Amino acid sequence: GEPVLSVRDLRVEYHTDAGAVRAVNGVSFDLMPGEKLGLVGESGSGKSTIALALMRMIKEPGRIAGGQILLHGRDILRLPEKEMRQVRAAEISMIPQGAMNSLNPVARIEDQIVDTLEDHSPKRVAKKELLEKAHAALESVGLRREVGRMYPHQLSGGMKQRVCIAIAVAMEPKVLIADEPTSALDVVVQRQVMGTLLRLQEELGVAVVLIGHDMGLMAQSVDRLAVMYAGKLAEVSPIREIFDDPLHPYTDLLIDSLPKLERRGTFRGIPGLPPSLHSLPPGCLFHPRCPKAMDICAEQVPPYREHRPNRFVACHLHEEGHATA
Ligand code: SF4
Ligand code: MG
Repeated sequence: GEPVLSVRDLRVEYHTDAGAVRAVNGVSFDLMPGEKLGLVGESGSGKSTIALALMRMIKEPGRIAGGQILLHGRDILRLPEKEMRQVRAAEISMIPQGAMNSLNPVARIEDQIVDTLEDHSPKRVAKKELLEKAHAALESVGLRREVGRMYPHQLSGGMKQRVCIAIAVAMEPKVLIADEPTSALDVVVQRQVMGTLLRLQEELGVAVVLIGHDMGLMAQSVDRLAVMYAGKLAEVSPIREIFDDPLHPYTDLLIDSLPKLERRGTFRGIPGLPPSLHSLPPGCLFHPRCPKAMDICAEQVPPYREHRPNRFVACHLHEEGHATA
């Protein structure tokens, strides 16, 4: 089949006092209808920037510097903002990082869902109908419709996160981007909320980009995993294969460090630090930390390509001539 979303050579820059940095540096991937793609990487590797770029919500001093984001074959980077407003929420929708803390504290839950529906509907819809939809959205995430009359402070963290999911799927989008949707919750609630998200995902047949740090959670949740490093994709592979036989040394280290991933926000157990975007190393961005680095790695950027069917990697180990390394 055809991908619902194709990202091609996406580049996002931020302008800072110390010069421009590439937060996303030539990222390409496809998302199939109904597919669940995980996106992992250390803090600052560009995950949330990709999420915002896919929604065309990069703010100054950032900008999309190049590439294409094809939604059903149509490049949304070329749409007038007015059309993009309709695409947002209706076709591609996001649960932003920290979403539950950005609910409006002085608006009732149902009004916040109605606002989203109203903002993104192509034509005017009666308030009563919008309220009905809002209540259905609440019920779809396991909340009673009475929750609609409440304010955010009256809800637990798990309930607030469910509300954010309800808002994101209220328009029945084809693509949902979930940026660390459960990271602020304790483990038990995390499981429940993720369960709800995955059930809805299946019911709606929506394709999901699930962003996170937790390799264990990814293993249980996604079909394919994309590993980011310093603004680039290191590897994209089906979840089973990536755990059984990681192609990129960085993926290998992430999997090895799995039991040590209790502390949020960073991958412990991988020696060294990711490079500053202000002074990227030449060649492979991972070479200063890579246990398998070769001479060529400090000199030449490894091409990102499909090494085997459905297994994408950027690493000289998998280029011709290094097949036995
Ligand atoms: Fe390691 Fe070289 Fe592969 Fe980079 S290209 S991950 S440095 S082996
Ligand atoms: Mg982030």
